[in-house]
Amino acid sequence: MSHVVVDNPHGLDQQLAALDLNPDGQGGGTGRRYIPPHLRNKDAAKNDSPGWDGGRTNGFVNGFHDNRTNGGFGGRGPPRNDRGFGGYENKDGGWGGAPRDAAYNSFGGRNDRSKSAFFNDRGAGSRGRYERGGFGGGGNSRWVEDSRGEDDWSKPTAPNERLENELFSGSNTGINFEKYDDIPVEATGSNCPPHIESFHDVDMGEIIMGNITLTRYTRPTPVQKHAIPIIKIKRDLMACAQTGSGKTAAFLLPVLSQIYTEGPGDALQASKSSGQENGRYGRRKQYPISLVLAPTRELALQIYDEAKKFAYRSHVRPCVVYGGADIGQQIRDLERGCHLLVATPGRLVDMMERGKIGLDHCNYLVLDEADRMLDMGFEPQIRRIVEQDTMPPKGIRQTMMFSATFPKEIQILARDFLEDYIFLAVGRVGSTSENITQKVVWVEENDKRSFLLDLLNATGKDSLTLVFVETKKGADALEDFLYREGYACTSIHGDRSQRDREEALHQFRSGRCPILVATAVAARGLDISNVKHVINFDLPSDIEEYVHRIGRTGRVGNLGLATSFFNDKNSNITKDLLDILVEAKQEVPSWLESLAYEHQHKSTSRGRSKRFSGGFGARDYRQASGGSGGFNSNRSGRNAGGHGGSRGFGGGGFGGNFYNDGYGGNYNHSGSVDWWGN
Ligand code: AMP
Repeated sequence: MSHVVVDNPHGLDQQLAALDLNPDGQGGGTGRRYIPPHLRNKDAAKNDSPGWDGGRTNGFVNGFHDNRTNGGFGGRGPPRNDRGFGGYENKDGGWGGAPRDAAYNSFGGRNDRSKSAFFNDRGAGSRGRYERGGFGGGGNSRWVEDSRGEDDWSKPTAPNERLENELFSGSNTGINFEKYDDIPVEATGSNCPPHIESFHDVDMGEIIMGNITLTRYTRPTPVQKHAIPIIKIKRDLMACAQTGSGKTAAFLLPVLSQIYTEGPGDALQASKSSGQENGRYGRRKQYPISLVLAPTRELALQIYDEAKKFAYRSHVRPCVVYGGADIGQQIRDLERGCHLLVATPGRLVDMMERGKIGLDHCNYLVLDEADRMLDMGFEPQIRRIVEQDTMPPKGIRQTMMFSATFPKEIQILARDFLEDYIFLAVGRVGSTSENITQKVVWVEENDKRSFLLDLLNATGKDSLTLVFVETKKGADALEDFLYREGYACTSIHGDRSQRDREEALHQFRSGRCPILVATAVAARGLDISNVKHVINFDLPSDIEEYVHRIGRTGRVGNLGLATSFFNDKNSNITKDLLDILVEAKQEVPSWLESLAYEHQHKSTSRGRSKRFSGGFGARDYRQASGGSGGFNSNRSGRNAGGHGGSRGFGGGGFGGNFYNDGYGGNYNHSGSVDWWGN
């Protein structure tokens, strides 16, 4: 096999263009079949079916900025009277004027830390101190809760240098957020507050501001700019934003900030009383103030890790529970105190049934990857947790949902859990062509392996490459194959033990095994920041899954490449895939257009609306039928980035239906230019 080895990990496009994909000299055009290396020069006569489309021109920068000038707030629905309304003022009026630099200074700063007295006091058996060795066995210090619960939760506790190093040493540097500013954001629903531009535009208190400084987050990402003020004013939220967009901090920061301001309330007392009832200290039921539900243990762990950062120097003790790990250890950890719980649904139900967790005082509920949670068989468990137990009802608790996609059916289902919510659509990262280059290549089943080898060689040995396959068996087989071919690779799928999965992730992240073969479920939501190339060895059958997968690359402003192997088996995704490529201003292979055209004509559901529109994972379905009437996008419709590139594909719509947007489409624009600049 003649694999083209290119060591330069940059410029994937050039490297791919250099691949010998069309050895008959007619590459780059359309209508050509890809010839795998072992068949090249053998049977030229067969070269008559769909093939690889060559280099692409990428010049489009989506340039919508949200120019809200309008305070846009006031006279909104009644504040939740159980949870004091913290003095929101509109942007022009300020947020109550927390001194901007005060937080960091009073937080101690990095040079101003002495070892905590609590820290040295371990082993004395007294309650109410930091103690080594906790936080899920990670060796971090932890808060052991007691009388300090009556303290002022808004004030930072003593610093702890060792813990601080542990939590913040791996933080983000060098992430390029410039491109992120061009990502469009839409907020719909009644009385949306104006977005923020800086973390200082909203008063999140000393602890949060100090921890933001320690994480070295210099400015909010688009989802944070919009979600933070919405959550701060205690509105429910349905947010359509990808993992990688900074959505975890978008909910953790305002939720924790509110917990710090308001203190533990009844939750602490309830936990203490349960301890007395049980007769033994430590064997008490925990009443978390906030619950974050996530579909996979990996995602739960990631959220937990982020929560530990923002809970540093606070009285809040985050915990995580997930299936497939020792429940006894998790119970012991819970018994040390749990104010913010991150959980997968099955394990949480188990903990509730064992009397370890009570949700009576859970005032904040977050559903991450909500589309999966309500779609993939989790729904009964979610209802069991949220509706059929002791959790405060919607309208009393605050509910936030985050997901990369929100199909209409899921939005309708989600209404059961939300009260007068704001819908936030943050443009998909993949929708800004700068971030992810999407390639779709026709590859017959039998040719996939050799084509994969070509790609791996082309992208260079140092690039992290994530290869998605459909089945666990397929993942094992492909890993074996790559291993035999001499590639350093590893794999994760549902049959692997938690330990193996964590080890595989570690090997991948560290670059020791720069190729990770994964099934979709196992890889969901993983935050691996430097994946250069996502390869859909097997394409998924639904487009939401495709969006999730390609979102593993091009994260937080970095560049990435996503290559998908397409053949007859994938015809069901043809039209949605075409829509995505067109929206993201990607090159569309002409064979895909033809297939979509045929499909369109065969299809009985001609009027079916697009799932994605305008670069968003979804639009607020309430807007489609006139909606709630309260929508005011507050947008100027300014197109700052300019449409540099051509769409490369029928701008007027394909077969008349491709641009038919079933979810949005009736935006109230004051100007003559519509939302999309047309
Ligand atoms: P998420 O979408 O929550 O998975 O976040 C993706 C990555 O972005 C994580 O590694 C976060 O630590 C990082 N991140 C989140 N918000 C910011 C920010 N404002 N500035 C820099 N990095 C961030």
